[in-house]
Amino acid sequence: MAKGNINVSVENIFPLIKKFLYSDHEIFLRELISNATDATLKLEHLVRIGEAKIETGQPKIEVKINKEDNTLHIIDEGVGMTQDEVKKYINEVAFSGAEEFLEKYKDSDAKETGIIGHFGLGFYSAFMVANKVEIFTKSWKDEPAAHWTCEGTTEFSLEESDRTTRGTEIVLHINDDEKEFLEDARIDELLVKYNKFMPVPIKFGTKEKELPLPDDAKEDEEPKKVTVDKIINNPDPAWTKQPTELEEKDYNEFYRELYPTQFEEPLFHIHLNVDYPFNLTGILYFPKLSNDMAMQKDKIQLYQNQVFVTDNVEGIVPEFLTMLKGVIDSPDIPLNVSRSYLQADGAVKKISSYITRKVADKLKSLFNNNREDFEIKWNDIKVVIEYGMLTEDKFFDKAQKFNLFPTVDDTYLTYEELEGKIKANQTDKDDKLVVLYASNKEAQHGAIKSAKDKGYEVLLLDSPIVSHLIQKIETEKENKVSFVRVDSDHIDNLIKKDEEQASKLNDEEKEKLKESFETVVPKEKYTVQVEALASDSAPVMITQPEFMRRMKEMQQSGGGGMFGMGNMPEM
Ligand code: ADP
Ligand code: MG
Repeated sequence: MAKGNINVSVENIFPLIKKFLYSDHEIFLRELISNATDATLKLEHLVRIGEAKIETGQPKIEVKINKEDNTLHIIDEGVGMTQDEVKKYINEVAFSGAEEFLEKYKDSDAKETGIIGHFGLGFYSAFMVANKVEIFTKSWKDEPAAHWTCEGTTEFSLEESDRTTRGTEIVLHINDDEKEFLEDARIDELLVKYNKFMPVPIKFGTKEKELPLPDDAKEDEEPKKVTVDKIINNPDPAWTKQPTELEEKDYNEFYRELYPTQFEEPLFHIHLNVDYPFNLTGILYFPKLSNDMAMQKDKIQLYQNQVFVTDNVEGIVPEFLTMLKGVIDSPDIPLNVSRSYLQADGAVKKISSYITRKVADKLKSLFNNNREDFEIKWNDIKVVIEYGMLTEDKFFDKAQKFNLFPTVDDTYLTYEELEGKIKANQTDKDDKLVVLYASNKEAQHGAIKSAKDKGYEVLLLDSPIVSHLIQKIETEKENKVSFVRVDSDHIDNLIKKDEEQASKLNDEEKEKLKESFETVVPKEKYTVQVEALASDSAPVMITQPEFMRRMKEMQQSGGGGMFGMGNMPEM
């Protein structure tokens, strides 16, 4: 038997990075622009604290394609690197200059700069698409510029360069099978996807701009055109500002900026802003309910320091809130781990419950401040609220205050209001509160009318989720409340506080009528009830016990699946 050591050499690391570091080749651009952004933010920080005494002007980042040379260029005006720094930061794989910077300047609040880098691996993603990478860089310090070249092996060359401008240019010699990254449209698409809200202006090409006509312009004078930089990003997106700086229209404009194909205005927004015990900013929107597929594709976007990461927020926000739109930006979400691990992560759990709480608080204040408006929006927001109440216990508790029950008379009651109304006249023999509801106003018209005639409140509960929600409420209330459909036999057992009305038939007549109905209606399924009150529209009612109806519904929806709940055909 042979024994030995497995030899791990540095040569092995390049093919590994190329293959496994990132599954998506396209993210190389995000990484390189993140580094260019970090370099710019670092310089601005050094100037701010007086360590670098230079004029920075308004630094930008430029992305350029050179089709003849098959090269892609990322150019910044940031800190740059000396030869020694290139050796230290670039040649040492997995050494993060970003982390080092944050550590070194932690006393001057370097964290506030929003520096992105983390693991010291981003730069090497360039080799996923390039067979050769060059760096031309000149530090802000008074030192000669450097030129580094590497062809994806562990060999590199480093020499002096005659570059005179401060900052860094990364040149990627694109592989033959990655030629898509030399197409304007493809790069444009990537910049919009990942870099749309990054904090340093990013130039990609130029565009024509019309100048306004001078006051003394002649009638047929054409406006002058000038060529200006095409800046692809908005460096100050709404979520990075304080809520006090923003008006309603700013929030609506930002919604459109996020989802350019979305023309419906959002119903309302929630501005998230916390920096302890975790850092998180963002804006969530309640959209208008829509079956539009394009609309459903627009999801909550997750950013880290203004860099787009993903629009799959599963595991980060509770499931019922994934129906919302907007952005969340947090550097504290560990994304290099599996989704199932995420759900168990303490920080992520806190983030998720913070978001849930903010949403509940916002709904509560909307309800308290303008109930009428809240009722108008109810139809659009109820799915989220009802689903949230079913799936998140903490949300259930808070939502009790603003969850509304519509009635057949188009009014809305909170649970508390409902309880108050019912207590007066709707308990059954066991002193249980009985809440009557209809699921279909037309089909249950007769039963609704006779219940209303007796002075009962009748809810209109017609959403598929609500059937599940009422069961949850019954359990929460320790079964001292029971929701009963208005055409079930329960109504019979209610203790009527109002005076008994006289029937037009005597007991014997009633019994006879009942018997004759029962010869045709299966007794084990339905209850026949004969009243013939003066005010009743129907002398005889054929009803079904509530439990039987629910059983049948459950069977139809395959054991009570969330959204598959079909209503019984009405009698
Ligand atoms: P990270 O960004 O996580 O620190 P990277 O592998 O992306 O790691 O980059 C390694 C280091 O190289 C950076 O931390 C930085 O010090 C240096 N660097 C990379 N790109 C630039 C640039 N455009 N300007 C200045 N320094 C850079
Ligand atoms: Mg980086």
